[in-house]
Amino acid sequence: MNSSLLAINNNRIAFFVEDDLRDWIIKIRRHVHQYPELSSEEFKTAAYIQEQLKIRGIASSGGICGNAVIVELGKHNPKSPCVALRADMDALPVNEETGLPFASNHPGIMHACGHDGHVAMLMGAAVLLDRAGKLPGRIKLIFQPSEELGNGASMLVNDGIVDDVDAIFSGHIDIHFKTGEITVNQGIICAYSDPFTISIRGRGGHAARPHEATDAIVAASSLVTIIQTLVSREVDPNKAEVITIGSFHAGTLHNVIASEALLQGTVRSIDEITRLRTIDGLKRIVQSIETMYDVYADLVFEEGLPAVINSKRAAEIAAIAAKDVVPADKVISQGFPSLGGEDFSFYLQRLEGCMVRFGAALPTEKAPAHSSGFDFDENCLELGSRWLASTALRWLEQGKTQS
Ligand SMILES: [Zn+2]
Ligand SMILES: [Zn+2]
Repeated sequence: MNSSLLAINNNRIAFFVEDDLRDWIIKIRRHVHQYPELSSEEFKTAAYIQEQLKIRGIASSGGICGNAVIVELGKHNPKSPCVALRADMDALPVNEETGLPFASNHPGIMHACGHDGHVAMLMGAAVLLDRAGKLPGRIKLIFQPSEELGNGASMLVNDGIVDDVDAIFSGHIDIHFKTGEITVNQGIICAYSDPFTISIRGRGGHAARPHEATDAIVAASSLVTIIQTLVSREVDPNKAEVITIGSFHAGTLHNVIASEALLQGTVRSIDEITRLRTIDGLKRIVQSIETMYDVYADLVFEEGLPAVINSKRAAEIAAIAAKDVVPADKVISQGFPSLGGEDFSFYLQRLEGCMVRFGAALPTEKAPAHSSGFDFDENCLELGSRWLASTALRWLEQGKTQS
């Protein structure tokens, strides 16, 4: 190891981020933020990642499963253990209203989830690991497209990108926590996410003659209300569960009884038994609407996201690495699992790993993630780079030997 850049003192791995590297990491975040691209359209983001890595002398492969970029370090021994670090890179269809000097140049598209920061962190980690000297194994850095659509990770997994990987780590920026805090938890940290569509078909007619029609809007409205009883009356109050109907479309004109209504929603669960019970309950209620209102009702579940479940051993390594980066009292629990979804779960179905959260609260700005005013404290970026690098080394040095 290059001792000027990587010090191991008192069993603490301390990667050093000098001013020049810190500035580069922030520059990357701001550039990616300024030119956001939607899920599966991250062409320029991918090209920029490759170009900036090349300037730092780091080779990468692009165009994998669309726009994924992969960096492989420590390839000298193909049979040695392999750990992966993952950053997502897509933006959201949100119109930015932050007023930042590097605000989005693409109207209607914004990095409102912090994935611009994730890219910058992993780029920083690439530099730290690349110059750390001879590595005790292989490290695969994955810049992943299309997280917000929930299909980026599964594409890479199905393409065999992690077939040779023993464990995978990632982190998400989170403004609910202070900058300098890193949350590490074993077990479930992000919910099962099951999106669904309900179509209701009645019979159209004149607004003044309801007896000649079957009103899809009344049936659908009633359905939305009855669905609210599922969580309040059928789920164990100690188990967090959410059903949200996020979209309701029906009708064309004030004097026409609508023949069709389309509802879209999502079920979020942190417990498999509760999840299945809620899904069964939803099926039962949708069926009952048919007889109640003399309509045809169809419920279709789309492919959702599994829960993110951190393995015990990977979470232990993640916590040790977090203590390399911040004081021990800043390595905290995130508390209850998030009811949000995260496609990192697809990797964890295949191999063990851990996702953490990087505290990034700004002193004043509190706009939530996925909103037009979202921003975070850039001081979290350097910490993220150092945690990613430390975790990879810690895993290679300790993770395999404990198996
Ligand atoms: Zn998001
Ligand atoms: Zn995100």
